[in-house]
Amino acid sequence: MLFNEVLDLKGKIRIYCRVRPILPGESKDQSTVDYVGENGSILIVNSLRKGKDSKKVFSFDKVFGPTVSQEQIYTNIQPLIRSVLDGYNVCIFAYGQTGSGKTYTMSGYDLNTKETWGVNFRAICDLFQISKTREDVIEYKVGVQMIEIYNEQVRDLLVIDGSTKRYPFEFSFYLQFNIYNNTQLNGLTVPDASWVPVSSTQDVLDLIRIGQKNRIVGPTAFNERSSRSHSILTVHVHGKELVSGTIFKGSLNLVDLAGSERMDKSKVQGDRLKEAQYINRSLSALGDVISALAQKSTHIPYRNSKLTQILQNSLGGHAKTLMLVHISPEPDAIGETLSTLKFAERVA
Ligand code: ADP
Ligand code: MG
Repeated sequence: MLFNEVLDLKGKIRIYCRVRPILPGESKDQSTVDYVGENGSILIVNSLRKGKDSKKVFSFDKVFGPTVSQEQIYTNIQPLIRSVLDGYNVCIFAYGQTGSGKTYTMSGYDLNTKETWGVNFRAICDLFQISKTREDVIEYKVGVQMIEIYNEQVRDLLVIDGSTKRYPFEFSFYLQFNIYNNTQLNGLTVPDASWVPVSSTQDVLDLIRIGQKNRIVGPTAFNERSSRSHSILTVHVHGKELVSGTIFKGSLNLVDLAGSERMDKSKVQGDRLKEAQYINRSLSALGDVISALAQKSTHIPYRNSKLTQILQNSLGGHAKTLMLVHISPEPDAIGETLSTLKFAERVA
């Protein structure tokens, strides 16, 4: 991609849609996705409706059908990732109902099989690789943070065995990042969340493994809790141009959002209802922020959720945002599929 093209992405919200394949056990001839166009259009068929009303076309920057590989997805977002090393803040969100493929896209399927690696591993490997090629000109330092937002509470995922034990770090590292008080980092207000300096892909793989394990186990070990919390993997890059001494910062935020499905209020109660309300509120707050940014509105309502507050400095301004909406082709999911696509259309 040309440099100018990368610059053009600045401040613009990109929307990509990914359709997951039909899984074993699901009916093959009933996909609700009728057609995926080269130009970013997708035709959805709703068998519950008749005639003209049964078909609806949506248009996005790009649409990826069910046969598109992890590598192809990554190729399409690589320019954004690379711009982090030039000092941009980048946010990539995975949005969609539970089971639509968000975690598959972001984290991949099996860490031991490279082809199935998701965006996060590919991105981080790429960042290290490119920074190596520039090491004669720019000195890079990289730090990683992983947090989870559950019921508007922020939890550090980079803790070992549930204890608050921190990774060993050099104080100088914190000084360089200007985050030594730990409550204000790059506009991020996450008291006590660990920032771990990393210097190789292996370091990051190890950390992500810990983060993912913590996400699943958690102190309140709900089943499938990960579907009802937002997880944010942030890679913070600090660059120093060796000749001029100029310092710049960039960040990459990879966000696996909580499932967007609506709960039937008559069927859920107590904790489940509370969770559902928190999720609905934070996802709509995110939608409001992104659409206000897309419309270049003067007031951006960041303060309505933890998620948007935390990402405030990485959204808007000197930032690039990509919303990756996920849909499942199952007929049963048609209601959620339509509401996901409408959400995406609204924020575009
Ligand atoms: P979510 O995180 O949105 O709840 P998952 O990523 O867990 O959804 O995906 C649900 C199921 O579908 C998993 O079994 C996952 O392996 C499978 N899946 C999702 N997307 C794909 C894909 N593109 N190719 C193959 N399997 C997929
Ligand atoms: Mg998931």
